[in-house]
Amino acid sequence: MWMGQSSVDFIMAGCKLLDEGNVQSFLDNTDIVLTDCDGVLWRGNQVIPGAQETIEKLRKLGKKVLFVTNNSTKTRAEYVTKCASLGFPASEDEIISSSYVTAHYLKYIVKYTGKVYTVGPQGLAQELNAVGIPNFGTGPDVAENWKFEDYTTLPLDPEVNCVVVGFDKDFSYVKLCRATAYLRDKGCLFVATNTDTGLPVNGRFIPGTGTIVAAVSEAAERRPDIICGKPHLPIFDTVLKLHNVDPKRCIMIGDRLNTDIELAHNCGLGAALLVLTGCATLEEVRQKQSSNSIADQRLVPNFYLPSLAQLGTLIDSLK
Ligand SMILES: [Mg+2]
Repeated sequence: MWMGQSSVDFIMAGCKLLDEGNVQSFLDNTDIVLTDCDGVLWRGNQVIPGAQETIEKLRKLGKKVLFVTNNSTKTRAEYVTKCASLGFPASEDEIISSSYVTAHYLKYIVKYTGKVYTVGPQGLAQELNAVGIPNFGTGPDVAENWKFEDYTTLPLDPEVNCVVVGFDKDFSYVKLCRATAYLRDKGCLFVATNTDTGLPVNGRFIPGTGTIVAAVSEAAERRPDIICGKPHLPIFDTVLKLHNVDPKRCIMIGDRLNTDIELAHNCGLGAALLVLTGCATLEEVRQKQSSNSIADQRLVPNFYLPSLAQLGTLIDSLK
């Protein structure tokens, strides 16, 4: 049902400038604002000018703001601290991070009861602990003088029926071997927190979780059974489970086409708003828009703004 609904939407998504003529209905049709963080609210540790004021104005209009991030390295509590330090006060239940979604989804939707082997950060382990899912694997795992025969005698925990892969700065060949050994059993669930390929930072490209997921996928010769982060459904299923809301009355604000904007279309949200303070450019969107491919059309937002600051200005113009 939602696929049919959303296919109509993304054909209609015209990437219009949000302006005084359409902002009223844009806001009237919205109860929940899902916003991406990096590239929308801040870049690294630098706040994007006007973003704080816009979030405050949206809240004053009675909109619920949820901070939605594919970053799997932090717990929600750590994200609350980061948001507060940059001037975005938030409570834990307003943070929807891919680690939290992974833990919540496994516990309450999949109802997984076994142990998890994680190739991922401490933040992921802590979120799994918080919902009572036993897990191990975080931290360095390297072997001196590793020999191929060591792989064949690698001890495996028989209670592990799920491997979760997130961003792991300690990713190693030994971890790849362990994950592969578990996942060669097709009954073992393969979960990825997200599949972002990476992030351009200061002219360099930082490889993201998707590159680690790809390594594990290649070795295990299978794709993840569940991908939790944007643009995939579990992240919004978690929002639905926590907040009783009509997807049509939610909007997504983001800077990346293949995560933020595609999520809005995949989940049948009311609208997707692209801001041009992060990854995507208007030229890129216009290219997608002129393509005949449905996959490209799914990346076209309904609206765009140069930055979140202009949404604050538009809200002021309504008074
Ligand atoms: Mg972003």
